Amino acid sequence: MRQNPSDDAGIGAAHPGRRHNIGMADKVIPLADHRALAAPPIVPPTLVAPSGRVVDSLGRPLRDLRISVTDRCNFRCSYCMPREVFDKDHRFLPHAALLTFEEITRVARLFAAHGVRKIRLTGGEPLLRKNLEVLVSMLAELRTTDGQPLDLTLTTNGSLLARKAQALRDAGLQRVTVSLDALDDAIFRRMNDADFPVAAVLEGIEAAARVGLGPIKVNMVVKRGTNEDQILPMARHFRGTPVILRFIEYMDVGATNGWRMDEVLPSAEVVRRLADEFALEPLAASAPGETAQRWRYAASAAAPGGEIGLISSVTQAFCRDCNRARLSTEGKLFLCLFASRGHDLRALLRGGYADAEIASALGLIWNGRTDRYSELRGARPEEDFEVAPRVEMHYIGG
Ligand code: SAM
Repeated sequence: MRQNPSDDAGIGAAHPGRRHNIGMADKVIPLADHRALAAPPIVPPTLVAPSGRVVDSLGRPLRDLRISVTDRCNFRCSYCMPREVFDKDHRFLPHAALLTFEEITRVARLFAAHGVRKIRLTGGEPLLRKNLEVLVSMLAELRTTDGQPLDLTLTTNGSLLARKAQALRDAGLQRVTVSLDALDDAIFRRMNDADFPVAAVLEGIEAAARVGLGPIKVNMVVKRGTNEDQILPMARHFRGTPVILRFIEYMDVGATNGWRMDEVLPSAEVVRRLADEFALEPLAASAPGETAQRWRYAASAAAPGGEIGLISSVTQAFCRDCNRARLSTEGKLFLCLFASRGHDLRALLRGGYADAEIASALGLIWNGRTDRYSELRGARPEEDFEVAPRVEMHYIGG
């Protein structure tokens, strides 16, 4: 029987901002709980079957679905889940609030009917979700509207990858992206704030390569003054291998990382530093809506080639091509990484609604999408760009 979609059986009321001492000055970190900020979607009275070609108000298709399978992580990277905020008192989602594998697969199938071709599992740290390979095997059964398997991938901090790579591959995962911010062990341990060594992540990358989870991408978030001196060592390490190293601008996601523009090292500066040592050639985008600008090392007998990418969400917004939707751990749909509110799909999933009704509601949501946060932020001087508090990245997934 249907229940009122606004009856939320999950987490309780939002908890207000908490005071934390983060370093030299006392500072209030506004940890607004966006997990509660989600309206139940409207199911239109006249149902419209998915055409596989849904577009939003700016003509952007829906191609890419990122699914956060857990809001927990075993790292405490200061730019994502600072330990001062996500400490032992932080209330993560209770297990009953999480979408089950069946619910995730059902939603993913409806997204595929609207045109989604790629699914990325993320989090939190997705490999912390128990039996994740079972979910992978369920998602691997899905097909695009033209009958192809979905492009099925996963973003991980690599800490459990060496152990899980084979099972994930056997279940049907196609490739992985591994986050690694430094090769220097002391810098890396400081950045992950969990004392986790570089060597174990490198082992994870090797295991993924061995079992065929490629092409592997490695994501390095570059923070000025923190790991900028790791740009060249990382480039040297992965150059000449099939691994694609991607440099990511430190983004103003969430509300807890104390983001400052002066800690962003623009991609243009990263390219300039790389070009001092390597000959680089630009590459064309490999897919519409691709987030990274691609470059390759000019190869010769003496100098092995390879590809790198730059993700410049701060200095060169790519909202115009954004074809991504994000599903939070407990089933809230977000249309932008910088969103303040979601759409509570779980209310429909657990409210007795039929696939046709949920698919119709999804179409309506995407049709009405207007988000272009980074573009607007880039076009306006920082001081008069007031934004509503944003959702945390570990919760909706990177
Ligand atoms: N735990 C997994 C991992 O470490 O890859 C998946 C989730 S994590 C939120 C996904 C990606 O977001 C990681 O590559 C991480 O470095 C990146 N990320 C998190 N916060 C960021 C920020 N403020 N700016 C840029 N990238 C960020």
